[in-house]
Amino acid sequence: MAKIYESIAELVGRTPLLELKNYEEKHNLKARILVKLEYFNPNQSVKDRIALAMVEDAERSGKLKKGDTIVELTSGNTGVGLAAIAAAKGYKFRAYIQDQVSKERYQVVHAFGGETVKLSDVPEIVKSMEENGADFVECCKALERAISGEKNVWFADQTRNHANPDIHFKTTGPEIWQDTDGNVDIFVANVGTGGTLSGAGNYLKSKNPNIQVVGIQPTEDSFQSEERPDQEEITGVHPFENVEERYIPANLDRKVYDDWYEVHTNQAYEAAREAAKTDGILIGASSGAAIYTAAKLAEKQENAGKTIVALLPDTGLRYLSTHLFDENYHA
Ligand code: PMP
Repeated sequence: MAKIYESIAELVGRTPLLELKNYEEKHNLKARILVKLEYFNPNQSVKDRIALAMVEDAERSGKLKKGDTIVELTSGNTGVGLAAIAAAKGYKFRAYIQDQVSKERYQVVHAFGGETVKLSDVPEIVKSMEENGADFVECCKALERAISGEKNVWFADQTRNHANPDIHFKTTGPEIWQDTDGNVDIFVANVGTGGTLSGAGNYLKSKNPNIQVVGIQPTEDSFQSEERPDQEEITGVHPFENVEERYIPANLDRKVYDDWYEVHTNQAYEAAREAAKTDGILIGASSGAAIYTAAKLAEKQENAGKTIVALLPDTGLRYLSTHLFDENYHA
């Protein structure tokens, strides 16, 4: 029977789970590590899921109409996903991107016919950052002010849009449950907007409340600062514990996680480099952080014989201009 898809929208999700057999063996791990490879999405990241979900939700509610421009504030992957969905569905797209992310992320948005704007070129956002620091909600409000005079624009707003955690509840969580036949003990994911951890975590807990949900945040010393001007950061992730209330991602359900781990960029990079060599997967920095965390859990005697699922958000190909795969880089 012929099987032909008619839109990339049909290719989003249903990503595979892979057991890191060689990595487990090399580290003598006591638990199994299954990784959910989100780079199998049509544009190589977990964000294809929310891009499609937010667009279709806005189409249904009438907020997004033919000929409109979709606008988003994004560190990259959501921009790529939205740019592709916009192209396939006939919308225009404009990404507002943090200055320091890798140049591939700008190039890919342009390849899909989208436009990019650096945050430092938006006076409202620059002012907000001076006054409120990296407060994401304030930054989103500043973007709303910046585009308020424009007609026919729709701001997707992954940080506050509930279609984000909802799609992980509807797809990511159920895929993990089905592919493991319900044999999952621990779920590990990064937190950027909080959508993945909250949506998939809540679904898994709805099936089995004993499943442990573990969030990951970058260590404080893995951020750029005056003392560490060249520090590379784990792109797309945010701290959510031991931070001021206003910095906690709006789409993070703080009741969903049982525990959280901290990972430094060097540890994330090292795990990603290793997994490429042991199991042949080329993944991004936050994926490395997820493997590092899963391995820490899998070393523990209390987790012997358990199954840990770690969600790997994107492809390593998006980081070739960084030091991710440079063995000599230790910031
Ligand atoms: N890793 C990468 C590379 C990302 O781009 C993001 C999202 N910004 C995340 C992890 C975190 O995902 P979420 O927004 O669902 O918390």
